Amino acid sequence: MGEKVKVDFVYSAPYDSSFYRARFGHYTRDPSVKPFDRELSKTQAFGFTRKLYEIWEPKERAVIEGIERATGLPWKDDAVTCFVVNYAVNGFGYPLTLTTHEGKTEPSRAVLTLVHELAHVNLMYEGPGRLRDYWKTFHERYAGEDVMTRNHIPVHAALAIVLPQTFGEDALVSLKSRDAKDPPYKRAWEIVDNEGAENILKELKDWIKK
Ligand SMILES: [Zn+2]
Repeated sequence: MGEKVKVDFVYSAPYDSSFYRARFGHYTRDPSVKPFDRELSKTQAFGFTRKLYEIWEPKERAVIEGIERATGLPWKDDAVTCFVVNYAVNGFGYPLTLTTHEGKTEPSRAVLTLVHELAHVNLMYEGPGRLRDYWKTFHERYAGEDVMTRNHIPVHAALAIVLPQTFGEDALVSLKSRDAKDPPYKRAWEIVDNEGAENILKELKDWIKK
């Protein structure tokens, strides 16, 4: 079960510079806009990654295996590449990307974002055709909810199980209070709390066994 799966943290200057240009002006000739500083950005991302890895590495196996156990879905690849950049506005699951917010993000906070994004990565596994029927049923059931809410119901259900087992109950509380500022995320937590994380994921696991 996910024994070999590892997260590879990488930096890509062209990727980061495209976030930089999107924010500060791609074709600007305005001399007050500093050009992208490749070396500085690389150093900043590497420094951040080192601190993040210190927190992540001791938990890696438990998180990877915990997510797989919670969702019942296998990891598709042995290595999950995680880009660490400075200028993205937020992190996301595909391609897995974390942002340092120009060095302002605490690695202890980013690691919880990493677990969130990894749950997305795991849940993206399409598997056999019948799983598509499961997701169709799932989206129909929650048709009244915002698509962002729907996409986060299984993610939050996995986090509700995995975070207390790995980073502790406090980490779950802290992530939930962060997500409370974002209405679709907040709503997804309400659904998970009302229906029960195990109940939400049990149905998915039953479909996988079919
Ligand atoms: Zn998400």
